[in-house]
Amino acid sequence: MQTKGEVRTYSNYIGGKWVESTGGLVESRNPATGELVTKAAKSTRDDVAHAIDEARMAFDSGSWSSKRPQERAKALREMSELLRGGLEPLAVLLTLENGKPLADARGELLNAANVLEYYASAARHVAGRIPRYSSTDISLVVHEPVGVCALIVPWNSPISLLSWKLGPALAAGCSVVIKPAGYTSGVSMEFVKLISTVEGVPPGVLNAVTGPGDTVGSELVRSNKVDKVSFTGSTETGSRIMEMASANLKKVNLECGGKSADIVFDDANMEAALPSAVWSIFRSAGQSCNAGSRLLVQDTIYGQFMKKYGEAVSKIRIGNGMDPATEMGPIISGTQMERVLSFIESGKEEGAKLSHGGERLSEGEFKEGFYVQPTYFEGVDRSMRIFQEEIFGPVLCVLPFHDEDEAISIANDTRFGLAGDVWSRSLPRIMKVSQGIRTGTLWVNRHLNPGPEVPFGGYKQSGLGRETGMEGLAEFLQTKHISLQLTDSFERVRR
Ligand code: NAD
Repeated sequence: MQTKGEVRTYSNYIGGKWVESTGGLVESRNPATGELVTKAAKSTRDDVAHAIDEARMAFDSGSWSSKRPQERAKALREMSELLRGGLEPLAVLLTLENGKPLADARGELLNAANVLEYYASAARHVAGRIPRYSSTDISLVVHEPVGVCALIVPWNSPISLLSWKLGPALAAGCSVVIKPAGYTSGVSMEFVKLISTVEGVPPGVLNAVTGPGDTVGSELVRSNKVDKVSFTGSTETGSRIMEMASANLKKVNLECGGKSADIVFDDANMEAALPSAVWSIFRSAGQSCNAGSRLLVQDTIYGQFMKKYGEAVSKIRIGNGMDPATEMGPIISGTQMERVLSFIESGKEEGAKLSHGGERLSEGEFKEGFYVQPTYFEGVDRSMRIFQEEIFGPVLCVLPFHDEDEAISIANDTRFGLAGDVWSRSLPRIMKVSQGIRTGTLWVNRHLNPGPEVPFGGYKQSGLGRETGMEGLAEFLQTKHISLQLTDSFERVRR
């Protein structure tokens, strides 16, 4: 476990070896205290090219892609077990770099272990089909790994989001180059260190390079030797990646931003709907792509619901993620905190009613950290920036609605389409709203997916493609058609 004051330094992992970079180092600081936590390589172009070449050689040699599925499954299962066994030191490092409460960090790592285990099983279920036209014509429709994949990951849930990519990529037989986010490079490389000890993964299949997105990330996206980019991050970066990848028609998967609606009808179970509406935004200080950042409450219960909501929000315990009592940690960085505060200012300027919070916490234990109070606005107009933009902080817009049609109309009034929650006991109402909202996921009387068996991804500007489930595996496979004619008659060939 990282001891207090210890600052670990991480090299790149390329071709089965830890390789120093000549590009210097990038620092990762604890957002709760400002203390230096880790340093990681500020990779150069040559480092990235080296990692891509190793991944390319490994893939083209077939050392992994042509292994039997059960051998790839075994390696993935071992990675999952190693993660479960080495959970605590990684969870501590995750909290130190990211700021999230330690219990949430443990939960994230268990989720990642579960995803790797799921893809160990899925590796053995890649199946093709054999359409048959006549006694002499057979088609084989087969699936092959897509090739060398760049896995570009954000900082908010760095290990579970990486597992969503790494699990299916390795299950499919691809070789990968991982590019973690700068803030969480240390925990990501520590995770790579752990799983790289698994036997049976040939050198070059698993590579990881750290450094800034606009140099290291874009180098990966531009390379002609990379077949696919699987990206999670902001819609703006996703759009840039799609543009760069278009030069050689590289396959892209984009998991981008969200502005999800949490819709509470008057017949909902309030005991469950209310805490969920609090935690779906304020958990991780709002730094979650699927945060319920727009709360829609039916007008018949609006007053009583919001009174209890305000009481619940006042009780949220804010603090350092290493304190077991903490329920909400800091914002990832000073820059991101300023961005969140500027959204709060814009909400006030545009005339929304600031009902709770709105301030930075900077006294006493909060002095060195980047803390913003849990904040919500009422009296919000749909044209306001706080309603339309992804703030990625602890800031919520609350709006009343009258009926199903109005709830659907408000929920859909955004360029995003990632997720959403509906709380009601009426099946016709649930079905009408679930089908009317244009998002990749709709949770009914719950928040978050029950497991990795189901797909996740966005409509509209929330992304392209799906992760998790068998859909997530399909994203790392190509489809090939082999057409067999079982006769050498020219007359038949001509037809
Ligand atoms: P970001 O877009 O700034 O960065 C994401 C990753 O892309 C980082 O590793 C970064 O270094 C890299 N990057 C940046 N510029 C790049 C470039 N030009 N070329 C290649 N790579 C580049 O996002 P972030 O601030 O790290 O994460 C927050 C965003 O991620 C939010 O918008 C959030 O909604 C989104 N997110 C989406 C999902 C999802 O599943 N849909 C999950 C988590 C987070």
